[in-house]
Parts: sequence; structure tokens; C-alpha cells
Amino acid sequence: MQLALLTSPEAGDRSGAGAVLAVPVGSTEQHGPHLPLGTDTDIAVELCARLAAAHPSVVVGPALAYGASGEHEDFAGTVSIGHDALESLVVELCRSATRTFPGVVVVSAHGGNGLALARAARRLRREGRRVLVWSATWDGDAHAGRTETSLELAIDPDRVRLDRAQAGDRRPIDLLMPAIQSAGLRAVSGNGVLGDPAGATAREGAALLDAMAADLVDRCSGWLAGSRR
Ligand SMILES: [Zn+2]
Repeated sequence: MQLALLTSPEAGDRSGAGAVLAVPVGSTEQHGPHLPLGTDTDIAVELCARLAAAHPSVVVGPALAYGASGEHEDFAGTVSIGHDALESLVVELCRSATRTFPGVVVVSAHGGNGLALARAARRLRREGRRVLVWSATWDGDAHAGRTETSLELAIDPDRVRLDRAQAGDRRPIDLLMPAIQSAGLRAVSGNGVLGDPAGATAREGAALLDAMAADLVDRCSGWLAGSRR
């Protein structure tokens, strides 16, 4: 169930019955020449939909489609709100949401959001609020490569310009991170890709979505039981 489709009394009824709010958090960020700027948001929205399908007590809020993407800002179309604004935004959003819901699950599909979300969660927990932050991770390539291309193909193949896909820097992300953090992603990859989209398939993306959703559902199961009043 989506929060935006409920009336206020319906939202009140659901929270009274123990429903929690899940908020997808993505980014508006370059994903190479072949994937849309909203790729991370698409993944977060998909995972929240699967979480709600597995746990009917989860209500899915409107997605937060901006995140901390400063290292991608010299690629057209990237719109970043930065770490501090994201932290404040999530703190205020969860303070407000917990007036209705006994808990909030923040589901992020952009690694760059991690620091701000961890800080926000610490502040909210100190205030006694129930907040769970879950971030998507995978073993595949880091950015707009085979993994993310497969995920987006599984979500909606019409959003992928496969004919424009090209390889980027294929070295391990840990090796590239210092340069990316100091000089931006363009310093290591002129096309914005870290990895290689070659070989990406919807089938591979669907399997990874299944695995990530299972992990998210599993992480939430015990937490949800504790959120019931
Ligand atoms: Zn991404």
C-alpha cells in the first residue's frame, strides 16, 4: 500500500494496526550513457514494493529521489543535495512520520547516501524513535556496470539504452575511491561508468532483486515485530 494513495483516516487506521512506513531513498545521478538518472531511485522503489508485498503491515511512502551525489556532479543531469541536507531531511521526515507510524524503514539504493543516513539514524534513535536503515549492496561492479544495468533491465527494460552501453573503469572500487572522493568520478571514468555493462540481463537483475529483497524482508521481520504497539 502506498501512503500517497491513502486518506488521512485510512493512514491513521493502518498505523493504529501497527503499520510502519518504508521510505525509498535513491538519487538523481548520472549512470553512464545508457542508464537513466533515476536508476538508484527505481531500485529503492522496487525493493520497497517487494517489502510491502511480503509484509502487508508496511506502507510505502513517496520516494526521496535526491541524495548525496557530489562526486557525480560534473556530469549533466546529476542533482545532489549533499550529505548534510540529506541527513537533516531524513531526520525531519522521520520525526514527522513517527507522529503517525511507530517506525520508519529507510531503504537506500545509493551507496553515497550511507554516511548521512547512518548519522540521521543515530540522531533519531537517541530521540527514542524506531528507525531502520537498510542499504542495497552487491558483489558486482560498482556503478552503471553489469549489475545496475541488469537491475534496471529487470525493473523496466524500456528505460535502458543498451545500444549506448560502454565499459568504464573496471578496477576495484576500493582502489578508485580516494581519487573519486578528492577529484570526482570523472577523474577515473570519462563516461561515468565503473565496471562494464556487457552481459547484463533482466534475468540476472531479477535474481539479484530477489536476493536483496529477501535480505531486506529478513532484516525487517524481527524489527517489525518490535514495532507493533
Ligand atoms: Zn546507482
